Amino acid sequence: MDVRWKECILLDCDGLNTLLKKISERYKIFYHAEDGTYKEFEGKISPHTINFMLSSPRPSMSIKRYLHPPIADLFEFCYHNNNVEIFRVEYEKPQLILGVRGCDIRALQVLDKYFMHDVCDPVYTALRKNTLFISVPCTKKGDYCFCSKDIAMEFVNAHAFIVPHDNGYILCARDEKIIGLLSGLGKRLPSADIERIMKKIEAEVDDYTEDIIPNAYNWVRERNIAEVRERIEELASLIGIEHCISCGMCNFLCPTCHCYDVRDEWKSVEMKEGKRLRVWDSCHLYEFALVAGGHNFRGPRSHRAYYRIMDKISLSTARYGMMACVGCGRCIEYCPVGVDIREVFRRLGND
Ligand code: SF4
Ligand code: SF4
Repeated sequence: MDVRWKECILLDCDGLNTLLKKISERYKIFYHAEDGTYKEFEGKISPHTINFMLSSPRPSMSIKRYLHPPIADLFEFCYHNNNVEIFRVEYEKPQLILGVRGCDIRALQVLDKYFMHDVCDPVYTALRKNTLFISVPCTKKGDYCFCSKDIAMEFVNAHAFIVPHDNGYILCARDEKIIGLLSGLGKRLPSADIERIMKKIEAEVDDYTEDIIPNAYNWVRERNIAEVRERIEELASLIGIEHCISCGMCNFLCPTCHCYDVRDEWKSVEMKEGKRLRVWDSCHLYEFALVAGGHNFRGPRSHRAYYRIMDKISLSTARYGMMACVGCGRCIEYCPVGVDIREVFRRLGND
């Protein structure tokens, strides 16, 4: 058995719900629901929903919001006798996300670089430390997905994962917090059974994954940023970048987009008490690079669109040695004007 999986058991639907109930005594649980979002667990998940989770492509919503919330309180403050007092906001509530795909597990590695590499962001770090992930494989390609095999198989690197079995579900765990709850819930499986199931899943993944991200990565890492930018600007017209309406949808859905703005919210017009918030921002918006004096570093819409592609493909490769695109295809599926980043990857990989 792969040493990363310390315990594997065969569960039926009731066994899985019993495990989730036990977990929910300490953790808030969110699971991939039929509408493409994550819903909060309320005591039971139906067999239909579990089977849906195990047989559908990735959800439309990524897990980013559970670690980098759309609106996050940073701290509270109040003025008192000409002094300012600051109160920390705690982000310690444990949570567990169920039904996470390989692309979103890889995206976590990208977010870890942005938020925990050079400087540790307190909100992200606290939430990351207190979140468990149970992943599931994608055995069916979504219409817009273009991940590679290594990204799709990242699902095995979560705290635990669930795969379908003829007699129910196999749950493999490597995190002690989950392993400690497994006793008496199902039959322990011999490693030969698990290896056989994993081989079947690998073959299914092999059938739908593509190499356009690794090929583009190999091209990009051998060139400097100026060369890559020149090529991306040439390719941008092929993907309809001139039609971009700067709605920011691609940023909000992307599992690795991480930019935010910081604002203060006052409790009353006296402006004595308030809180500092951070909210998701979008590099596609005109105000994103607007600075004091009215100068805008990326005034033309096309410059903002090039920048996002550069950020996904080249800047993260130069800085962290990994691409910030995991091939989930969400930005393609939901772009109102059909901007499709896949063609840029394909062309870069074939240059
Ligand atoms: S750029 Fe698009 S395809 Fe790539 S990770 Fe972000 S949303 Fe997914
Ligand atoms: S979703 Fe499409 S139109 Fe909206 S900002 Fe992104 S590329 Fe532009």
